Amino acid sequence: MTSSTYPQPIFNPAVECASREKITETQLGLLKEQVRLAYDKVPWYQARFKQIGLEPGDIKTLADVRLLPVTDKSVMRETYPFGLFAAPLDQIVRLHSSSGTTGKPVVVGYTKADIEEWRYCIMSMVQMAGVIPSDRAQMAFGYGMFTGGFGLHYGLEGLGCMMIPAGSGNTERHLMMIEDYGTTVLIATPSYALHICEVGEKLGYDWASSTLRVGLFGGEPCPPKMKQEIEQRMHIICTDNYGLTEVMGPGVSGECLFSRDHQHIAESHFIWEVVDPQTMEPVTEGGIGELVLTPLKKQGVPILRYRTRDLTRVTIDPCACGRTTARMEKIRHRSDDMLIIRGTNVFPSQFEDVLSHIEGASAHYRIIVDNEGGMDRLTLMLEVEPAVFSDSFTQMDSFRALVAEKLRSTLQLGVVVKLIEPHSLERSMGKTRHVEDLRS
Ligand SMILES: [Zn+2]
Repeated sequence: MTSSTYPQPIFNPAVECASREKITETQLGLLKEQVRLAYDKVPWYQARFKQIGLEPGDIKTLADVRLLPVTDKSVMRETYPFGLFAAPLDQIVRLHSSSGTTGKPVVVGYTKADIEEWRYCIMSMVQMAGVIPSDRAQMAFGYGMFTGGFGLHYGLEGLGCMMIPAGSGNTERHLMMIEDYGTTVLIATPSYALHICEVGEKLGYDWASSTLRVGLFGGEPCPPKMKQEIEQRMHIICTDNYGLTEVMGPGVSGECLFSRDHQHIAESHFIWEVVDPQTMEPVTEGGIGELVLTPLKKQGVPILRYRTRDLTRVTIDPCACGRTTARMEKIRHRSDDMLIIRGTNVFPSQFEDVLSHIEGASAHYRIIVDNEGGMDRLTLMLEVEPAVFSDSFTQMDSFRALVAEKLRSTLQLGVVVKLIEPHSLERSMGKTRHVEDLRS
C-alpha cells in the first residue's frame, strides 16, 4: 500500500457530510413514504397498523419511528415467500435469500430501482475503504442466493473497478489469479482471507511484494486480533463492512480509514435505532443495545424496524474523515450468541477480547460447552503461536495457566484451557463457528 493513495475523495459529500438537521429532514421525508408504501401495499403491515391503532399520518417526526411495528426474521418466515413484497412480482428483477439454520429461508426481492440504490450504497462504502476505480477486485464470496457476492460485485463494477468474479473455494486458483491478474482488492470473509494467506505462505508466495492492498471483509465479524494478523501477514489494509439480506445486503455500514473500530452507517438509506432488546426502549445515548434498522428507499420489500439481533453502540460525533454520518461500533455480540453458563451471560467475543491481549495466543480457537455431572463446563481449545508451542511442559503449562486466569477474571467463570498445535483446527471457507454447544 502506498500512503499517497489515501485518503480517497468522499463519494457523495453532499450526502455523507450533510448537517445533522439535513440528514434528519431527509430521513423523515423518506420514512413517511416508506410507511405509506408498506401500509398501502403490504397487507401484513396494514393489519399490524390497525391492530395497534396507528395510521401512516401519525408519523410526524423522526422519533415517531418508535411507534411503528417491528419486523423480525419470524415475520419474514411467516410471510414466506412473497408476503411482504410491495411491488408486483413482474417488477421484481432479482431475488436473494438468507439461509436459516431451521425451516424456510428469508426471501427478498429487488426492483430495478432497489438494485440501483444498493449499487450506490456499495460504491460509497468501498470508496470509504480506500478502493479506487482503477482497482482490480477479486471476489472470494460465493455468488448464488447470498447477497454478499452480487452486492459487492455490482457496486465495485459500478465504481469502475475490474471485477474478477472468482467465487468461493479453490484457494490455489485464487492465489494464481492474484498473481496473474494483479489483483489489488480481495472480497472475502476474514477467516477465508486468513486461509488464503496461510496457503500462500506455505507455497512460498511473497505477500510483501503482492499487488494486493485492500481487503473488503464481511459475512462474519472480524475480531481486532484477526484483522491485525491479516494486515501484518498479507501487507494489506483490512476493512470490514456490515449488512443484512433482510434490509438490503452489504452496504448498510462500512469502515473508513480514520475510525477503524467503527463503521459509518449509510444514513441516506437507513434509519438506525439502538434499543434494549428486552423492552425495545431506546438505550441512553451511546449505550449498547440491539441495532434496529428501517430501510428508507426500498420499493420491492419495504421493511419497518428490522430487529437485527446485533448488539452495538452508535455515535454521531464527527469523524476525522469529514463524514458526518453516524458510526456504529463493529458488531461484537449478537443477542442470539449469548451463552448462559451456570447462570452467567457469556459472549464469544469476550474470549476474543481476552486472547487479543495475550502474546502467543493465535486467532484460532474453539469454545466447547458441555455438561458434566449437572454442571455446565466451558472448554477453550486454543491454537498457540509456533514460538510458544514447545516441548517444555513447564513453559506450556504456565502459558495455559495465564490464559485460564485472564479468562476467569473477565468472565467470572472457570474455563478449562487446552493448548493445541498451530493449524490443528479446521479452517473454514465461510463463517467460522467458534462455539460448539454440546448441552442437550
Ligand atoms: Zn470516518
